[in-house]
Formats: sequence, C-alpha cells, structure tokens
Amino acid sequence: VKENVDTKEHQLTVALRVRPINEAELADEAKIIVHRIDQKMVVLMDPVNDPNNILRANRSREKMYMFDVAFDSKATQEDVYISTTKELIDGVIAGYNATVFAYGATGAGKTYTMLGTDSDPGIYVRTLNDLFKGIEASSDRKIYQVSMSYLEIYNEMIRDLLNPTIGFLDLREDAKGGIQIAGITEFSTSNADEIMLLLLKGNRERTQEPTGANSASSRSHAVLQVTVRQRSRVHAIHDELHFGRLFLIDLAGSERAAQTQNRGKRMMEGAHINRSLLALGNCINALSDRGGRANYINYRDSKLTRLLKDSLGGNSRTVMIAHISPASTSFEESRNTLTYADRAKHV
Ligand code: ADP
Ligand code: MG
Repeated sequence: VKENVDTKEHQLTVALRVRPINEAELADEAKIIVHRIDQKMVVLMDPVNDPNNILRANRSREKMYMFDVAFDSKATQEDVYISTTKELIDGVIAGYNATVFAYGATGAGKTYTMLGTDSDPGIYVRTLNDLFKGIEASSDRKIYQVSMSYLEIYNEMIRDLLNPTIGFLDLREDAKGGIQIAGITEFSTSNADEIMLLLLKGNRERTQEPTGANSASSRSHAVLQVTVRQRSRVHAIHDELHFGRLFLIDLAGSERAAQTQNRGKRMMEGAHINRSLLALGNCINALSDRGGRANYINYRDSKLTRLLKDSLGGNSRTVMIAHISPASTSFEESRNTLTYADRAKHV
C-alpha cells in the first residue's frame, strides 16, 4: 500500500504561484490578502470584516492551503521553471510523457508563467532550451528528432496556432491507439529566439473576445505539444521508434461562466470551457486519489482530455501550476482556485 501511495504522489505535483499586485488593483484600493507561510503553505484572508454579518463575523477569517510548492510574487520565472518542469525533461528524452498545466482565473498570471515575455521568457522556451541541451549531451548513442506544435482548443474545436488559416483539426487514433492531431504543423528548430517569435505570434492568434468579466479574457486552452522521437544509432533499422511527449498547457480562465454574466454565444463557450476543465478536474482527482481506489478516468468527456489520454496517469507525470492574484478584489476567484488545487484535502 505504501508503494502505491508514493507512486501516486510522485505522479502529480501541484504548485501555486501568486503574482504581484498590480496598478489597477491598487487603484481599486485592493489589499493584499494572500501570504506565503513557508515553501508549501499559503494563507488566504477573507477581506470582509462586518460585525453585522453574524455568519461571517463568527467564522475564522483565515484559511491555510497546502501545495507541493508555493511561489509568491518574488519568485522568478527561473524559480518556477526549475521547481515544476525542469525535472520532467530527462523523462521525456527517455520516452515518457508528461503534462504541465497553468490553471487559474483570467488575469491571474497563467500566460506569464507559460509564455512569459521577450525579456523574461516562461516555461515554454526554458523547457525547449533544456530539451535541446539534454539531447545534445546524449546524442552519440541515439538519434533524436524534436518537433513542436502549438494549438488551441476553443469551443471543443482544435485550431493550429502556427497555421490558423487551415481550419479546424480532428483527433485521430493511430494504429497503436495513440492520439494524433491530423494535419497539425510540426515545427522543428533549436533556435530559442526563433521559437519565442513563433510562440508569441501563435499566441496572438488565440481566440480572445470581450466578456463581462474581463475585456481580454482568454476563452481558449493553448497547448504546446513537444514530441521527442528517438532511435538507436547502432540498430537503427530494427529499432522501433520511441517517442516521449510533453504537453505544456495554458488553460482557459477558470472563472465561472455564471460570474461573467454571459449570454448566448459567450454562455455556450462557458459551458464548453467548463466541460474541458471539469473533465480535466476529474482526471486530476483520480490521479491524486491517494486512497488507491481504482478510479475510472473518462478521457472521452472532452477534447482536452482525449488529447491527453496517453499523457495523464500511467507512467506519465502531471504538474499543475495554480495561479492567483493576491488582491482582496479577487477573493472569490482566489478561494475557488485554492480550493480546487489544495493538496491537503486528500490527506
Ligand atoms: P492570464 O493568462 O492568467 O489571464 P496573464 O499571464 O496575462 O494572466 O497576467 C495578467 C497580467 O499580469 C499581465 O500583464 C502579466 O504580464 C502580469 N503578470 C502576471 N504574472 C506576473 C508575475 N509573476 N510577475 C509580473 N507580472 C505578472
Ligand atoms: Mg492568458
């Protein structure tokens, strides 16, 4: 039983990143209500202190949440990368799959963590750089080929962000039951500057339309799919082609459709976003069930989970990086995200 528990824990890592408070929040007279206690714990303060509201006045105003690792506003892009993603790279080169998610409400810092900026790139570029270094270090024994694809899932439809004009793409199962995206652009380069340009350009192709909650709300899941194919130099002809796959995913905003007062088209998008996030949540719950009960994971429930079928569970490693604002004006969203991601709830 002990072994089983350890394996499960090893499979899923949950991190939290609290971004710095920003000008707009300060202009709204927001207070900082999230504090990091140590490397794993944060405390959230309920900003409402109303003695006339008996229910709230008598409730503890502080709540602690636990993670495998917690980053506050002082953490650098490099800090976050090293503690969440760097350790996955050797596994991917060896042929294992892994997935890293950025989760959180719109504006909480997901895209900053994954894509970052030209001057301070995020997980995408850092991962690809180290992947190329790792391959170079071992390339006298094996022949490696690395390719990347960048896509979005929007309204349960897949679009190629590196070639957005070709229309919606389908998921196919190959002869071995592996999931492939038919017709997706597979780009191959080890030039970090070129990769960043490509991703920044791709990111501008993401579907972003105004909603009630935020004028630049991200309604799509952006997926960077990195595939490492390998062959032995010595027995190249007889060797089966092995591949490891890494998914780096900037999820759509987790705020509820109801909270954005969506109507019509926006409402339908909300339903789809929730469907993918709900399906993903069910998969993550099954992974983190330390009781060891054999949870059935229904990957068929959404496009996102279908795509990730071979990269969640089994020998694959999963990292979720939850994101929140520290501001009192985001209390409800932060509480939702902390509750969703809290590592203590299964203990
Ligand atoms: P999301 O993708 O979750 O909607 P963004 O990543 O776009 O949120 O972040 C919202 C804003 O906050 C952006 O202007 C971004 O540059 C800034 N930001 C987010 N996280 C950080 C951080 N850790 N340090 C500095 N600025 C950040
Ligand atoms: Mg974003």
